[in-house]
Amino acid sequence: MQHRGVTVWFTGLSGAGKTTISHALADKLRSQGCKLEILDGDIVRENLTKGLGFSKEDRDTNIRRIGFVAHLLTRNGVIVFVSAISPYRAIREELKEKIGDFVEVFVNAPLAVCEDRDVKGLYKKARSGEIAQFTGISDPYEAPENPTVECRTDLETLEESMAKVMKTLEELGYLTAE
Ligand code: ADP
Repeated sequence: MQHRGVTVWFTGLSGAGKTTISHALADKLRSQGCKLEILDGDIVRENLTKGLGFSKEDRDTNIRRIGFVAHLLTRNGVIVFVSAISPYRAIREELKEKIGDFVEVFVNAPLAVCEDRDVKGLYKKARSGEIAQFTGISDPYEAPENPTVECRTDLETLEESMAKVMKTLEELGYLTAE
């Protein structure tokens, strides 16, 4: 597989499937020889953006820093998967403009489904008030109006979601079979 640098930005509610899709796809592409890096919101918050909270200002700073690193890697030919809730539309649009080679993947499942999955037990804590400013419960999520790809993870299998993203990357010329 030949590839060009691109930032693939997975946005969506907690539990929507960003980590699951991006990691599965990363394994697949790496096994086919692609240079790929994952910037996962949860991990980035432990180092690159340690100390930031969940106010709009801090969330925007978090996303801008992730975007800065993604841009550096992208222009050096790396495929970058960003997996972060990234709830605010304006900042996603800002990075789309700045990076250029940018594919927005809306990982979409209804809030009720994400809450029912409660992968990390965070929704329960958000409902009880133990966690404040939780996206979807006590903080906004601005869904993309025109994402490059939408994965409806409540309606499709992981394989179907992965295939959609792969197909888009091929169609846009970021991936080509040798
Ligand atoms: P996020 O990273 O968005 O917080 P996770 O990937 O941690 O979400 O959790 C998503 C959950 O949804 C996982 O338990 C996963 O197995 C499940 N799931 C069901 N269908 C899909 C699908 N089509 N794509 C991705 N995840 C799915």
